[in-house]
Amino acid sequence: MPKKDYYDILGVSRDATDKAIKKAYRKLAKQYHPDTYQGDKKEAEDKFKEISEAYEVLIDTDKRTKYDQIGSRVADDAFGPEGFDWSQFTHSQDVEDIFGSAIFDSFFRSPSSPGFGGSGGIFDTLYGGGEGIERAARGADVQLRLDITLEEAARGIAKRIEVPMSRPCKACGGSGTRSGKATACPQCRGTGQVRNVQSRGGTRVITAAVCPQCKGTGRATYDLCEACGGTGTTSKRTKIELKIKEGVATGYEIKVPRAGRPPESQLGGEPGNLYVVLNVLPHPIFERQGDDLYMKTPISFTQAALGDDVMITTLDGKHVKLKIPAETQTNTKLRLRALGMPKLGAVAHGDLYVEVLVQTPRNLTDKQKELLQQLFAGA
Ligand SMILES: [Zn+2]
Ligand SMILES: [Zn+2]
Repeated sequence: MPKKDYYDILGVSRDATDKAIKKAYRKLAKQYHPDTYQGDKKEAEDKFKEISEAYEVLIDTDKRTKYDQIGSRVADDAFGPEGFDWSQFTHSQDVEDIFGSAIFDSFFRSPSSPGFGGSGGIFDTLYGGGEGIERAARGADVQLRLDITLEEAARGIAKRIEVPMSRPCKACGGSGTRSGKATACPQCRGTGQVRNVQSRGGTRVITAAVCPQCKGTGRATYDLCEACGGTGTTSKRTKIELKIKEGVATGYEIKVPRAGRPPESQLGGEPGNLYVVLNVLPHPIFERQGDDLYMKTPISFTQAALGDDVMITTLDGKHVKLKIPAETQTNTKLRLRALGMPKLGAVAHGDLYVEVLVQTPRNLTDKQKELLQQLFAGA
């Protein structure tokens, strides 16, 4: 196991207070949030796990004292020979406080991390999935990216999408069996799961796996419904309407309960959820920064010098007057109040900033050159 310096990982000093540690963790956790992190998703996950491990130790007085005394070996003591894993993280509440409860949903269903997601990820570990057998029953969550334009993000829109939704199998009435009653799989005795006991570094580790014979259904294979493969559900493409609120930004997530994957086994299974993650496309004219919008407009040399009123077309197509003060320099950003994006969940708007680009005259005649010389010589 590589030596880890938890203080370095969180970027705090050795005498940092709990408050400073919390603050550092909060900042880093936000930085590695999957919806905003620009880089590789797997990297964000690894980093998030690493800072969480450091936080787990440093925020706990006992663990921290021990760590300060014996250094990185505390990781072995605290987390066992396999190292830190999410089931050992006891501060999920803090993470929820930062992001809201959707965070574990959102973070750990990435397809890049096998073992997370529908069958027994951190979400289940932390949120009372309980025994592995129940976890295996829930279908996987599905994430879907939806592109919308900046105009759509500004005015809000209803979007129709088509997704596979699971519903009870008609052939077997949802029982998953041909006989309509349960005949238990002989290998797993109907549990859908087999357990293996291994010894790792002197510790007995019990792992549970989906029963290879019945594939987790718990049903005897000769009695399985052929239409649904014993799951009791079939999937049908269904149109759903998403209401997209005014002011949403890239990364905004809409949860559609039970529109994810169907359960893999019939053991009390529920379909997973669908998460539609919005991606606001770049706009040719307006650039968005938070709730503010930025645009550029050319003005003439004379308008810049003497001042003028120019007309600006806003994102929603309104024409508004922008006052150019006299002696305006190029690249000056002039603010139009409350003409930016609507603020999500509020009645207020951000501002619109118009950057003026002063156009220096070209192709001057001799006469014009002469006049300019007279006007500005020595100025
Ligand atoms: Zn079985
Ligand atoms: Zn069926």
